[in-house]
Amino acid sequence: GETVLEVRDLRLELSAKDGARLPVLEEVSLKVGRGEIVGIVGESGCGKSVLSLSVLGLLPPSIRVAGGGIYNGERKELHRLGEKSLQRIRGKEIAMIFQDPMTSLNPGMTVGKQVAEAIRLHTGASKREAEEKTVGLFRKVGLPRPETLYHEYPHRLSGGMRQRVMIAMAVSCQPDLLIADEPTTALDVTIQAQILKLMKTLREEDGTSILLISHDLGLISGVCDRIAVMYAGRIVEEGAAAEVLRHPAHPYTAGLLASLALPSKKGTRLHSIPGSVPALRERGPGCAFASRCPYAADRCLAEKPALRGVAGSAFPRSAACHLLGEEGGLANVGS
Ligand code: SF4
Ligand code: MG
Repeated sequence: GETVLEVRDLRLELSAKDGARLPVLEEVSLKVGRGEIVGIVGESGCGKSVLSLSVLGLLPPSIRVAGGGIYNGERKELHRLGEKSLQRIRGKEIAMIFQDPMTSLNPGMTVGKQVAEAIRLHTGASKREAEEKTVGLFRKVGLPRPETLYHEYPHRLSGGMRQRVMIAMAVSCQPDLLIADEPTTALDVTIQAQILKLMKTLREEDGTSILLISHDLGLISGVCDRIAVMYAGRIVEEGAAAEVLRHPAHPYTAGLLASLALPSKKGTRLHSIPGSVPALRERGPGCAFASRCPYAADRCLAEKPALRGVAGSAFPRSAACHLLGEEGGLANVGS
């Protein structure tokens, strides 16, 4: 099928104050097809947010593209575009929503007017057309009493309703790709499920491709077609969501899954994997997960495992772990 986003062998480098160049992302490749929902999962510090920012040309000045590239459906090299061209793409071709809608909404303007003005800016619609379109979008994203809600200010809405307003704004210009970075993290569990269901509806009704970024594998796995698991700036496992969940090929993915089975309290996560993602300066020549991996061997400290195909999968699948070279892979060590 058609590809709306391709990240190819991307390397991002952070320029530290002491002049050191530290790799934030390495060898990251990812494709999102038309109408596909792709999940990126990993703990904070794994590089998933910086990846999404790089797609929109929103990297902080200290981080630069040092290798590889980012391409949209029309083969535009997004990483080479200037700010003017990127502004045209943002919102219209690629839209983004964040964890906290309050940071993106203007507290002094009614939510309806904010969406209508975004529509006018991108499409040149008349005031009335934009108003009608906004009310229609509010209905589409499941906001109650859209005509009345149009005239409310952001602080009068619940967190879930504000996120629906942001989604309405994001899809108002029918972008090819919607990037959602932790879109439900600030919301309670019931509302989280509703927002994810809305994403699925948008894909089904409009064919919108969605890149869904989350630390919560269990939460997003149900809506994703494919999942890429990131660790320490690399993709360590990628494949069809159902297959990755059923038979994780990488010990990190297995650890994420095991933590889902544990009773979770808010703010305490991933407690089945002791330790944390190594800091940029602490990343050595071997596998970045070695310090936390129950299967780490001498080879893991010395040699970085390459991403390679996982045998016996119905869909293309890959993982980066030395165990894969052995008969049976992770299954062999009894996980
Ligand atoms: Fe664990 Fe070694 Fe595989 Fe890294 S390469 S995940 S340390 S077994
Ligand atoms: Mg983040």
